[in-house]
Formats: sequence, C-alpha cells, structure tokens
Amino acid sequence: MADFGATELDAFRTEVREWLAANYPAELKGADAKTDPEAVWGGRAFAGARGDADPQTQWMRRCAEKGWTAPTWPTQYGGGGLSPAQARVVEQEIARGGYRSPLLSFGIWMLGPVLLEYANEEQKKEHLPKITRGEIRWCQGYSEPGAGSDLASLATRCEDKGDHWQIDGQKVWTSYADKADWCFCLVRTDTTKKHEGISFVLIDMSLPGVETRPIKLISGESPFCETFFTGVKIPKGALVGQLNGGWEIAKRLLQYERQNISAGFGEGGTAGGASGDLGEVARSYLGVDEGRLADLDLRKRITENKMNFQALRQTIARTAAESRASNGPSAATSIIKYAAAEFAKERSELMVEAMGNQGLGWAGDGFSDGERLAVRGWLRTKANSIEGGTSEVNLNVVAKRVLGLPDPK
Ligand SMILES: Cc1cc2nc3c(=O)[nH]c(=O)nc-3n(C[C@H](O)[C@H](O)[C@H](O)COP(=O)(O)OP(=O)(O)OC[C@H]3O[C@@H](n4cnc5c(N)ncnc54)[C@H](O)[C@@H]3O)c2cc1C
Repeated sequence: MADFGATELDAFRTEVREWLAANYPAELKGADAKTDPEAVWGGRAFAGARGDADPQTQWMRRCAEKGWTAPTWPTQYGGGGLSPAQARVVEQEIARGGYRSPLLSFGIWMLGPVLLEYANEEQKKEHLPKITRGEIRWCQGYSEPGAGSDLASLATRCEDKGDHWQIDGQKVWTSYADKADWCFCLVRTDTTKKHEGISFVLIDMSLPGVETRPIKLISGESPFCETFFTGVKIPKGALVGQLNGGWEIAKRLLQYERQNISAGFGEGGTAGGASGDLGEVARSYLGVDEGRLADLDLRKRITENKMNFQALRQTIARTAAESRASNGPSAATSIIKYAAAEFAKERSELMVEAMGNQGLGWAGDGFSDGERLAVRGWLRTKANSIEGGTSEVNLNVVAKRVLGLPDPK
C-alpha cells in the first residue's frame, strides 16, 4: 500500500473524479439518488428483488470491482488496497459529486475490520469478499432482553455438540435482522465466568431454528427485530478467535461501530436528524431583523450549536486521522459518540422549535414534507444516545479507559 505525496494524491483525485463521472449510472443522477434508501444495503434479498439491470446494483458492482466499497481493505479480500489518504479522496469525491453511496453495510463498518484483526485465513477468504461485493447483508446480535448496557450479562447459549455448535437464546433490537443474511453474534460458552465466558460466532440466518420478529414502532416502521435461536446448529468453523475470547472482539467491534456512527456527523455526513441549514430555516419561519434572525435568544442558541458543529467536525476529522495513522479506533471514540449524539439532539430540537406549531406535524395536509421530516428526525435523534452504547455508558468508558479514573465504590 503506497502512501502518496501531495502531487500523487492530486493525480489520484483526478483519476477518481473521472472514473466516478464515467461510471455513475445516469438513472441515479439527481433527486432520485436520494430516494429509495433501502437500495444501498445489498444482500441476497436485494439482489433477488432487483436483478442485474438495476442501476444501484450496477453501481455497487462497478465500485466493488475497483475495491472502492472497502477502499482500505487488502485487495486479496476484495478491498482497494488504498492508503488512508487515498481512501479519503474516494470518500470526498463521492460526496463532492453528489453520488449515492455504492454500499452501506454493517459488514464494512463493523464486522470486516474485526475479521481482518481476529479471523483465520479461511474465514477472511470466505466472508470479506462477499461483504465488499454486497452479496451478504449482516446484522448485529449483541443486545438481549437482560443484556443491553451490561452486555456481558448475555445468556444466549452456545454448546459444543462435538461436530457442531448449538445456539439457543434470544437477541433484541437486532437492526434489520429480518433483512439480513448472516448475523455476527455474541454467545455464552462458559456460564461460570462473565466476560471470559463469551464467544464471537457467525450465524447464517437461513438456518433452521432462526426466527426474526420485527418490532413495530409508533412511527409504523420496523427497523428492529427480536431474534430467536432455537437449537440452531452452526459449524465449528463459525467461531471467530478464541473460545471464550469473544469479549475482546466485541469491544473492538463497538469501537468501530461508534467511530462509524460519529462519522455521519463529519464531512459529507447528514449531521443526524433534520436536514437543512438551521439558521436559514429559522429565518424563514421567524423573520429577520436587519438581516439577522429576529428572535435574539434563538439566534444565540443556533449560533452556539453551529459553532459546536464546526468544532465537532474538526475533532472528528482529527481523531479519524489519528485512528488511521495508528492502530484503528480507540476508547476515545466514546468521546465523539457521546458529543455527536448530544449535538444531534440539540440541533433537531432547535429545528422543530424554530418551526413553531408547524414543527409539531407528524402527518397531514397542513404540514410540508420538510416539517414532517423535521419531526421524525427529531424523534430519531432520541435513539442517537442509545444505539451503539448509551451516552451514560460512553461516559463511563471515557472515565475508565480514557481518563483512567477508578471504579466508583
Ligand atoms: C436505533 C437503535 C439500533 C440498535 N441496533 C442494535 C443492533 O443492531 N444490535 C444490537 O445488538 N443492539 C442494537 N441496539 C440496542 C442498543 O445497543 C441498546 O439499546 C443499548 O446498548 C442500551 O441497552 P438497553 O436498551 O438494554 O438499556 P439499559 O441497559 O437497560 O439502560 C437503561 C438506562 O440505564 C442507563 N444505564 C445502564 N447502565 C448504566 C451504568 N452502568 N451507568 C449509568 N447509566 C446506566 C442507560 O444509559 C439507559 O439510560 C439498538 C438500539 C437502538 C436505539
């Protein structure tokens, strides 16, 4: 993997820009590229439903052939073998051109990086290329009814049956489990020890005994499932890393998860919840006084939020660069995850507040699309401080692992 100087990087940027422009399907250009959010997740169901002629499938495959769905992964596993600086150029050029992401994937964000670190060669060859090509969609089987923040209390059993493992238990809040092909899952392989009794396994969701029950939310959507495993037989080769050594992999994966959640707030990200410029939205609803937002108090709070956003983005860019230059993400990702969640909640609250009564509309003719989206975005940000570890839990990680403070007595 060559690390380029500035001149080579400029040349690489030109090459990337030209390739993207030449290969982005015409059908995806413009507003259509922002619709159909399900289209970017890949997986067996996606391939089956869409067929080879589907423009998003074409786009995903073209990028996968270049290795640009996972730009920094080694080429032998389907990655691009690019340096971190080159990978950033690819990301920047996709954002700059307004192109739809070729592939969003828990496999790329979370599982792949830990497979590269902990899996054996056979597992890497089996799973990584399928992730980069969007063939297999993964879900995360961590949380259980009795194990959320205290994840190490998980009870889903994994028993050694000689020539295979048998899985019995229940997961909850498994995002998109009903759409996923495989699950990376934490299971209990020793009931006598808490953290040292956990293993990390890979489960094919089409196996007999796997059942997903979507949980219907008040919004009418069902992004999560309860996932049940009853007498599910998985091969011995499904264990990643050491038997009872899964807790270390679990924590490492959470660092990647937190880094990726935070990346949504960085350059090219959606900044969580409501979209649009907060100041402009407020001016259009509340009017202006000498060109400035008329409501002095709200103006002050919006300005503070925008300043915090800039600081957050700079910090995300700095920590991402540090992470690329060192050994991947660290416990410090909890700082960003916490700050980004709190920022997103505040920003969305300011957005609906600026809209006044119009910011209360869930549905109906009296509200514009932007207003309805602002309310839904505001509610969605409530999950930002829960998913990937709650804000309280992330503060605990910062206290213990970053600041080195002792456990409270
Ligand atoms: C949008 C979204 C997507 C998710 N997707 C997935 C997924 O795909 N796979 C998956 O496995 N899970 C998923 N989750 C579950 C998520 O990881 C858990 O909800 C989260 O870890 C919290 O666990 P819990 O819900 O059991 O809450 P609890 O652990 O019961 O926490 C309840 C409250 O107590 C607080 N609390 C608990 N312990 C402490 C402590 N030691 N110190 C201070 N405060 C504490 C918490 O901060 C929280 O406010 C998802 C959640 C959301 C919201």
